[in-house]
Amino acid sequence: MTTTENGSGTPEFAGKRALVTGGSRGIGAAIVRQLLDAGAEVLTTARSATSAAPEGARFVQADVRTRSGAEAIAAAAREAFGGVDLLVHNAGGARPHRGALDIPDEEWQDTLELNLLASVRLDALLAPGMRERRSGVIVHISSAAVPVASGPFLHYTAAKAALENYSRGLAAELAPFGVRVNTVTPGRVATPGGEATREQWARLDSTPDQVSATTPPLGRDGEPDDIANAVLFLASGRASWLTGSNLVVDGGEFPRG
Ligand code: NDP
Repeated sequence: MTTTENGSGTPEFAGKRALVTGGSRGIGAAIVRQLLDAGAEVLTTARSATSAAPEGARFVQADVRTRSGAEAIAAAAREAFGGVDLLVHNAGGARPHRGALDIPDEEWQDTLELNLLASVRLDALLAPGMRERRSGVIVHISSAAVPVASGPFLHYTAAKAALENYSRGLAAELAPFGVRVNTVTPGRVATPGGEATREQWARLDSTPDQVSATTPPLGRDGEPDDIANAVLFLASGRASWLTGSNLVVDGGEFPRG
């Protein structure tokens, strides 16, 4: 079903130009599909040359972990659209290790590049255009594992914690220019990346009770569309007075407050 604004029949994101990193599968693909359904033009990215990106989306093959990758993505966005109205930083993930002290230096580097610096660099390239146009929305994707800060994932949760902090600071800086910046924090979601990570973790014989393996209170694991729903809400005019927020979407698994 197409989302419409004010019952006018006009798709809610008609005329909007969106860039979503990591849209070839999982949560990113759901965000891309929902944006396309709601009338947006969408450019998405992945490292693999792929036809797996949802039909109707433009695609650029690039690695968000590198400065040259960020520059290639920003250039593709400018070429496709001129600028972007919505930037969703979704590409992310981590490989678990036995414990915090077993995480090699290069793995810390890699995880910080993917889960923190990729967003910082792409924002630095594309948010100035939003600031000039005095409009735009940025959404960062964090993880409900941040407050758990479990050893096998400490490089990942530390990077995502820094991302949350960075997102709040950027929100304050861009608010006077009408640019909104928010975070969406997923709990356990059934995706190819999420499942692969949990299998690797189980094989490591780590301490399973450090990160809950039980069903969330709402009775099921998340679906990619649960997270996409939150992203589209924050990106929409319905969230026009929301910036610097962190919307936790985890079925009630990790209560905060
Ligand atoms: P998936 O691994 O299923 O999908 C990741 C997407 O990002 C793919 O399109 C992948 O394509 C792309 N990607 C990965 N690395 C890079 C890179 N270096 N450069 C460009 N693209 C890249 O991930 P999920 O959908 O599970 O996760 C999406 C986000 O949600 C992540 O930020 C993750 O940390 C977060 N999250 C997920 C949870 C879950 O349970 N699934 C829980 C909490 C947070 P390719 O491999 O071809 O590059």
